[in-house]
Amino acid sequence: MYSDGYREQGLRQQLVSEIIKKGIKDKRVIEAIGKIPRHLFMDSAFVNFAYIDKAFPIGSGQTISQPYTVAFQTELLKINKGDKVLEIGTGSGYQTAVLLELGAKVFTIERQRNLFLKAQRFLPQLGYHPQFFFGDGYLGKPTYGPYDKILITAGAPEIPPLLVRQLKPGGFLVVPLGEMSQTMVRLIKSDQGKDIIEDHGAFSFVPLLKGTAYDK
Ligand code: SAH
Repeated sequence: MYSDGYREQGLRQQLVSEIIKKGIKDKRVIEAIGKIPRHLFMDSAFVNFAYIDKAFPIGSGQTISQPYTVAFQTELLKINKGDKVLEIGTGSGYQTAVLLELGAKVFTIERQRNLFLKAQRFLPQLGYHPQFFFGDGYLGKPTYGPYDKILITAGAPEIPPLLVRQLKPGGFLVVPLGEMSQTMVRLIKSDQGKDIIEDHGAFSFVPLLKGTAYDK
């Protein structure tokens, strides 16, 4: 039903070369980008652009993140096999698939009902099995925590305090921080005292929104 032919595989290798040129070094992340058929995660109107290193619309006013950005966020998370990872913003599920390829156990939350339903139906067809949740990611998922890593894939006005609370000591939280434009921030949770907050440069994301939505 889903085709991934020589053409797509060739285009994917060009994309891999491009993200390496842009500075991605983690071999496992590069392998995951080289393996995952991004064209299958795209809206039919944009499939021909699947291997261009850009974000594209996926409906509900949201976007599939740029591959370089997905690779950059994943690299910052330093995923170890078996890590429990909470992802805020499932969207197309492409980033989710990258985390799963790296051997993480993924818990992913989406606030747009139709995107949640679509990802929940589609990812298992490619053999990807995260735990899907429909809800407001600001609140996290304390029942399944604490997590080794937390990834936010939308621009947040602040680091959500409830999420920091669901992170294990020594755990990483990666979040694009800011409203109009974002700075990639990695928070490293300390066992006692002050968490470390690192700045990893400028990026552009759709906003992290509160509550849930049922449009279309
Ligand atoms: N990483 C995904 C999606 C990126 S777009 C991909 O590459 O396809 C960010 C996603 O975060 C959107 O789907 C948006 O609906 C979702 N989102 C925004 N605020 C949220 C919140 N509070 N809780 C859960 N999901 C949220």
